[in-house]
Amino acid sequence: MKKENNRFTENEVIQWRGLLEERKKLVLDSEEKLLTQAFKDLSTDVTGEISRLRRHSGDLATNTQTIETLELLSEKNIRSLQEIETSLERLDNGTFAECEGCHKPIPIKRLLIAPESRFCIDCQMDYEENQKRPAKEARPIPY
Ligand SMILES: [Zn+2]
Repeated sequence: MKKENNRFTENEVIQWRGLLEERKKLVLDSEEKLLTQAFKDLSTDVTGEISRLRRHSGDLATNTQTIETLELLSEKNIRSLQEIETSLERLDNGTFAECEGCHKPIPIKRLLIAPESRFCIDCQMDYEENQKRPAKEARPIPY
């Protein structure tokens, strides 16, 4: 059963959905460009450039770096897409714009910049701190 979202009217929910769909499209576009770029870099390698690259190891390093950067960007895109999908689900079940950490409403100002936000600013900082730390030092979940 659907839970009513007390915070937003039906019209507002439609607007948030529109915003999220737009973000999704942007991320997908950027991902497509990354893939095109990656293939271009890759095809430079396979079209007889390998021996040249071996002679100029500096070039090879740059190339590897490019691919690594592309991979990182792509990872970021995939994470964004997952967050957008989750937010769309949350719009459906009435928990959209509620912080996953402290369950307080996420400020509209923040949502307008990043409608896929899962946390308020405080909880986001905590979350990122936790992500940075090695797993064994991660803060225990408080229940
Ligand atoms: Zn919070």
